[in-house]
Amino acid sequence: MNAGHSHLKALDYSIVQQCMHCGLCLPTCPTYDATKLERNSPRGRIALMRAIADDRLDVTKAFGDEMYFCLGCLACQTACPAGVNYAELFEHARAEIEEKRVLASPKRNFIRGFAVGWLFMDLRRLELLGKALRLYQQLGLQTLLRRSGALKLLPKRLQELEAMTPHVQPAFSSDLIEPVTPAENGRKFRVAMLTGCAQDLTFSDVNRDTVEVLAQNGCEVVTPPEQSCCGSLHAHNGEWTLAQQLARRNIDQFPPEQFDAIITNAGGCGSHLKHYAKLLADDPAYLKRAKVWDAKVKDIHEWIVEIGMRFPTMSRSSSLNEAHSEIRNSQSLLTSAATSEMVVTYHESCHLSHGQKVVSQPRQLLQAIPGLKLVELPEASWCCGSAGIYNLTQPEMANDLLARKIKHIKSTGATTVATGNPGCLLQLINGAAKEGLKLRVVHPVTLLAEAYRAEK
Ligand code: SF4
Ligand code: SF4
Repeated sequence: MNAGHSHLKALDYSIVQQCMHCGLCLPTCPTYDATKLERNSPRGRIALMRAIADDRLDVTKAFGDEMYFCLGCLACQTACPAGVNYAELFEHARAEIEEKRVLASPKRNFIRGFAVGWLFMDLRRLELLGKALRLYQQLGLQTLLRRSGALKLLPKRLQELEAMTPHVQPAFSSDLIEPVTPAENGRKFRVAMLTGCAQDLTFSDVNRDTVEVLAQNGCEVVTPPEQSCCGSLHAHNGEWTLAQQLARRNIDQFPPEQFDAIITNAGGCGSHLKHYAKLLADDPAYLKRAKVWDAKVKDIHEWIVEIGMRFPTMSRSSSLNEAHSEIRNSQSLLTSAATSEMVVTYHESCHLSHGQKVVSQPRQLLQAIPGLKLVELPEASWCCGSAGIYNLTQPEMANDLLARKIKHIKSTGATTVATGNPGCLLQLINGAAKEGLKLRVVHPVTLLAEAYRAEK
């Protein structure tokens, strides 16, 4: 990009001027709900972006702060009757903020350069870091440090970050999943499976469960051991060029013409993966293939329902419930239903529901599981505060949103909460731990995989 380039000015003006200022999005916006300030609302932010595109406003630090206070949850996009494409505006605004360097500081530059520009550009580096962290956890050093009280010497923010350190899985996806998994009972489809970046470190078991569920539904699954990040972290944080590089890498590694579908089980990744054509709009060498790619990317819930999911035949009160009996028995608060059913509630990942409009399919998947009672969660699609790395960069707002989410989960009486995005899973696990709540936090596909296993 040249120095004079402006993402917002270069954007199709029909997107920039689409907002008709009706305000119907305001009640759905978590930041506006918290502050009641117009500038913290979708309408206010869009007005700022339009003013920059119209040359009436410069890109300033205040604008940068505002766009990073936005969660990017896209609830406003669902609510908007005019079809404003907030996702596109948001990503271009953040790209412009990074190009103009209005938030630059030595500390911020170092953290971004290390994490976004280096660590997540080659997942072998992330895996190495994951292995070091796993060793630290397995040797008991983390427990020792926590029990010793030494962490109290750290600044409060560092103590909070340490408490959020995810549990690294004992095995990564490449240890658990064969490069090609055959379909059970005859191949109907050939699909590719993206194992993700943070997802692979912290929820490789969910990847294994996803592959099992696909195989059970007639899919041969191609899962190369070495993969790349989808680039959503980069696009959501204004690193447009790096996001383009990763998109090209993924299209080369998973030629979309060779698969019936390209499967993701992470709501945040899927929302980004479905828009490679927009990202590569100026790249004639990739644009055509990116369009094929976009049409083939499917969230696991969406795909399973689309191809006609095989319903598990496990009987009620079988091993699925036994697997959760410990939680049920130990949690008087959440065991209102003295039945053999596992009571599950469902939290909607923002980018699965607002970004991809995959709303009914996860519920259909859960309702197909025998012995499972699905209870609706109040404000199911209200952000939990995870929002990519928002819980790291805006802890106060993220913690308020998490407390609100946990309160609603408690109100359902559920012993399990299901959600289809690794960021939400981690956020809810942390929220339950903070309150000492014995709540199982799980991906819906894991519950389906367990039901299939219980048939055997
Ligand atoms: S993306 Fe979420 S936080 Fe940002 S303006 Fe829209 S509703 Fe508000
Ligand atoms: S609902 Fe849509 S058109 Fe109305 S103010 Fe919000 S973004 Fe603008």
